[in-house]
Amino acid sequence: MSEQEQGTFRDRHSSITEEGKRNWSYALKPKGKLYQYRSWLSYFYLLLFFSLPFIKVDGNPMFQFNFPEGEFIFFSTLFTPQDFIMFGIGMLIFILFIIIFTLIYGRIFCGWVCPQTIFMEMVFRKIEYFIEGDGNKQRINNKKAWTTELYIRKTIKHIVFLALSFAISNTFLSYIIGVDALYKIITEPVSEHIVGFVAIFFFTMAFYVVYAFVREIVCTVICPYGRLQGVLLDKNSIIVAYNYLRGEPRNKKQKEAGAGDCIDCGMCVNVCPTNIDIRNGTQLECVNCTACIDACNMMMKNVGKAPELITFASENSIASGKKFEFTYRIKSYTAVLGVLMVLLTVLILTRTTFDSTIMRVPGQSIQENADGTISNLYRIKVTNKSNKALPYHLLATDPNVKIERIGIPLDSLKGRQLAEETFFIKVFPKNIHQRKMKYEIKLMSGNKVMETKSATFISEF
Ligand code: SF4
Ligand code: SF4
Repeated sequence: MSEQEQGTFRDRHSSITEEGKRNWSYALKPKGKLYQYRSWLSYFYLLLFFSLPFIKVDGNPMFQFNFPEGEFIFFSTLFTPQDFIMFGIGMLIFILFIIIFTLIYGRIFCGWVCPQTIFMEMVFRKIEYFIEGDGNKQRINNKKAWTTELYIRKTIKHIVFLALSFAISNTFLSYIIGVDALYKIITEPVSEHIVGFVAIFFFTMAFYVVYAFVREIVCTVICPYGRLQGVLLDKNSIIVAYNYLRGEPRNKKQKEAGAGDCIDCGMCVNVCPTNIDIRNGTQLECVNCTACIDACNMMMKNVGKAPELITFASENSIASGKKFEFTYRIKSYTAVLGVLMVLLTVLILTRTTFDSTIMRVPGQSIQENADGTISNLYRIKVTNKSNKALPYHLLATDPNVKIERIGIPLDSLKGRQLAEETFFIKVFPKNIHQRKMKYEIKLMSGNKVMETKSATFISEF
């Protein structure tokens, strides 16, 4: 009786054998259209990953996630703690996006986009194939007494893995502290950058352990997104699914009457990096890498049957025997995703470079001046959120309002500078029409309006 018939496949984790030992994945290299697409996507992804920290626009890298200093750069735009509202909205949109995306498209992100899978399957495993041979060869060699050649091959593999982990660790760190800070750590004496060196060492070892030993367990046990699949997926979610209506009863001897299309060749299991049999149904361990689709399509072609016995489909579409269709629900959720993306883009693009607060100076009464004007005193706190120095001055929208700054007026703000100054708003009584007036103050950088604020003006009207 098969594991599926007994239901025992759910009794233990796919990375654990019945004896409780590690069930090492010797996944065979898939061949097929989807694997090709994944490979191209991964080359593009790797190119981006290793080059983005070096690409700068206006002195800012494209992306930087400086958690220690609370500064984040998206598309070369710096976000500081002053942007926490936008950051909060962005996070909310991001979480909503993940939920809706997973509800519709299942775990496709894991198999095709997640850095863990890309590095594991498209970099480290390919290196392993190159040095140690394909999955079958590795399985056989590891069971036998190790030869000198195997020791040498494994040593070379682990040296290459360590070197790659070191490269990934440095790149990863440059996304946090920036390439310039990383360059300093590498080129200056160790004693001046103890924390930096510890971080490089820690990340190198972490990546090495993950890709050399932990591997698919990151996706099937450790990753919180993976663990959430159980609640995020429903029977209409698109998943990698086996069409049991067509495939069962599986039969090696295809000539037997009533035999399903599955020839029980086991190729879908052999290529699976998480060691599962997709014919048992949806499983938490499936990362939607689509290797089994390629493998089964190849087998179907070999025996002259239609492809897509394993395919992208929802559980409901398989059960109803209907071809998968983009339902109204999927289309509307996709539209919501689009709106969320646009919203986030608009938020990023409309973000101001200057961030300020203007307040009346407490305890200051209304003043009557020698020139006949009435004045109120204000304090402005302004941050230049960009990386470069920018010219700065204040301008009142109302031509009847005069701004008079106290002391030496600020004429520029350095990159990331928080500055303060005090100023009077002066108005002739004939232009005051009520006790509390609101005046617009523009924060200018040259001729460009960076931000518009309003200030409350109080008089004895
Ligand atoms: S079952 Fe198929 S799609 Fe899922 S992880 Fe295994 S090979 Fe990839
Ligand atoms: S690869 Fe296809 S034919 Fe072979 S066992 Fe898997 S589902 Fe059946």
